[in-house]
Amino acid sequence: MSIYLDKRLQSLTPYTPGEQPQSSEKFIKLNTNESPYFPSKYSLARINSAEKKKLRLYSDPESGELARAIAEYYGVTSENVMPVNGSDEALAFCFAAFGDKGAVFPDVTYGFYKVFAGLFDVKYTEIPLKKDFSVNVKDYLDKNKTVFLANPNAQTGMYLPLAEIETIVSSNPKSVVVIDEAYVDFGGVSAVKLIKHYKNLVVVQTFSKSRSLAGARVGFAVADKELIADLQRVKYSFNPYNVNRLSAALATEAIKDRKYFGACRKKIMSTREKLTAGLKELGFEVLPSKANFVLAQSDRISGGELYKKLKEKGVLVRHFSDKRIDNFVRITIGTDAQIKILLNKIKNIMEAQK
Ligand code: PMP
Repeated sequence: MSIYLDKRLQSLTPYTPGEQPQSSEKFIKLNTNESPYFPSKYSLARINSAEKKKLRLYSDPESGELARAIAEYYGVTSENVMPVNGSDEALAFCFAAFGDKGAVFPDVTYGFYKVFAGLFDVKYTEIPLKKDFSVNVKDYLDKNKTVFLANPNAQTGMYLPLAEIETIVSSNPKSVVVIDEAYVDFGGVSAVKLIKHYKNLVVVQTFSKSRSLAGARVGFAVADKELIADLQRVKYSFNPYNVNRLSAALATEAIKDRKYFGACRKKIMSTREKLTAGLKELGFEVLPSKANFVLAQSDRISGGELYKKLKEKGVLVRHFSDKRIDNFVRITIGTDAQIKILLNKIKNIMEAQK
């Protein structure tokens, strides 16, 4: 840290991304909730030489083609949609745009909320999840603060039905409710259909998980057009060409390819059930997940120890040192074959514990 750094940033703890080993072929990588499946073939075909030659031009600041494709998918207009450079960017814009009221979010959730609050000087309160890690809806009513909820929730994978999300949104007419749906495609129902009825709802989604484009960095926000205009105000005060040409083209084809999308999510949900059953057979407690990961713990080995032993055996999972979940590991849903290898390795580790 230099002596020049802004005082406020000196005490900020930045986000720590999951490991991204550059020799990833050495690992079975189940640590950052990427898809085990390739991007849509139509996405890949779109990046032809004509598309690459257009790189001399700036990208469309509105990402109009992509916004229209997303709007069509969700039955809204493109004025309701803002494509962004990874959904992290949309979340950052929400903290910047709606932070002055203060923010609330669960104590166990996506770690970036706290970091954005620090970066944008937003006062926040963490609301404890219930003992079983579910969200207590009553805790989020009439807050008069900007509410951030990941649904399914990050780290736990647990999901609130749409009716409960609506209860939260309708009880907070004076403040914005941001629903982060990074994982909604793995068994949840999107809150996008509520934006027609509520002027205070922002739904944030990503192409990083269910559409196999984590490396392209594309996400989007969907909301009433006035809220989108607010977010555009932040964007045009920060980075007008936020989505690069190639990524916008990749994402446009990905959202149109409903068939491949459907097949990938179906496979991931089915593998998730196999992983859950396999872990339970090995004596693990597994939180009920509607995401492309599960959070699991055993009373026979600590989360930190299991993470370390799996890494030694060539499998990367994620361990968080946050107190409430430090005995767990978070395992991304890979292919059936990867999960089979993982379960075998866990079995060997547990047997060696005896
Ligand atoms: N929200 C949640 C809950 C996440 O887990 C992630 C991924 N780490 C993101 C948002 C950000 O994803 P991306 O920026 O890749 O769209």
